[in-house]
Amino acid sequence: MTKKTIEDLRDIAGKRILVRVDFNVPLDEKRNITDDTRIKAALPTIKYLIEAKAKIILVSHLGRPSGVDEKLRMDPIGARLSELLGKKVTKLDDCIGEEVENAISKAKNGDVILLENVRFYAEEEKNDEIFARKLASLADIYVNDAFGTAHRAHASTAGIAEFIPGVAGLLMEKEIKALSKLLENPEKPFLLILGGAKVSDKIGIIRNLLSKVDIVALGGGMAYAFLKAKNWPVGKSLLEEDMVPVAKEIVKKTYELHLYDFHTPLDHIVVTGKISPEAEKQVVERGAVSENMIGVDIGPQAIAEYEDCIHRAKTIFWNGPLGIFEIDQFATGTIAIAKAVAEAQAYTVVGGGDSIAALNKAGVDLNKISHISTGGGASLEFLEGKVLPGIACLQDK
Ligand code: AMP
Repeated sequence: MTKKTIEDLRDIAGKRILVRVDFNVPLDEKRNITDDTRIKAALPTIKYLIEAKAKIILVSHLGRPSGVDEKLRMDPIGARLSELLGKKVTKLDDCIGEEVENAISKAKNGDVILLENVRFYAEEEKNDEIFARKLASLADIYVNDAFGTAHRAHASTAGIAEFIPGVAGLLMEKEIKALSKLLENPEKPFLLILGGAKVSDKIGIIRNLLSKVDIVALGGGMAYAFLKAKNWPVGKSLLEEDMVPVAKEIVKKTYELHLYDFHTPLDHIVVTGKISPEAEKQVVERGAVSENMIGVDIGPQAIAEYEDCIHRAKTIFWNGPLGIFEIDQFATGTIAIAKAVAEAQAYTVVGGGDSIAALNKAGVDLNKISHISTGGGASLEFLEGKVLPGIACLQDK
């Protein structure tokens, strides 16, 4: 860890500390929080700062508002946070301006203030300098604990650190350490399991990790670009045609690297006609996919092969479902992989909202996964080897 963290801060009692958290939680129509994982993930940092008697100012985005949106106010999150902390949380109705300044000036040591949805201002995503300055003027120190948005250069995730010193929160530190372990010294064999719909989202990570991994197992819609690249028939399955040449280039590279443990599904679950919970499914070998078939899950041979990969690995990174797991009858492959990863005798990292939903759907004990990343896109970009603006802006140790 090369960046300073809140544990490197000294004499913070009474200091105003603005913490960028990722409280972008799912809400139902009645604005009830349906999953508070992200709020819970920020608690260690908040509690640490309460103990240290700082004045804590929390800021987050919620959803994708354009301007003020009553449905995306932070009130339900303030209420839930207050329950979790067993302490009053003062929720404000703006995130900059005089009223906010007044409320902060009245705060006592250890108080927790939650600002309004920062994306009510279009300036946030534009990383507008004046807006970043206004946010910075509210505090003495900036803490970034929002790993999920660290790949975005927004005012509250990066711009603000131009004006006040920035350090990492404990969640950010945990994410950086867990993911760095994959890049720096993974215990071998290192297995990369990738699924999901869009192969274009995953090309960067495959490219960057190809020389570091020992085993690759591909599934989901993205696998069809690789199957096509290897001249297997894909029928009407999801296919990003323009990615086939890129997939071909990657397959070629695997031969150059002697990476022969590179797997695409041996068989598939397919449907014809419409993808629906009622559709009749069948198992077909990869060579037998006909023109009218749509691949919706990996088949039993592929599951067995991928389970074997998981048993052999000492380090595993998994991102993306291996089939259309939202439909129960096409979730078998994803659930099997989730269970096998949870049982693996390996250092296991899972990233991406869908993969976490799959772990939950499989009913596995989440504590059995070494690290569950709170940031899907951010964890992919980190493993692509990209510089994340929300990390780069923080002070070096
Ligand atoms: P991504 O956001 O790229 O990780 O994609 C996640 C989505 O991929 C999920 O909603 C899955 O339903 C979808 N998916 C997985 N396998 C397939 C498939 N064979 N065909 C179409 N969509 C798929």
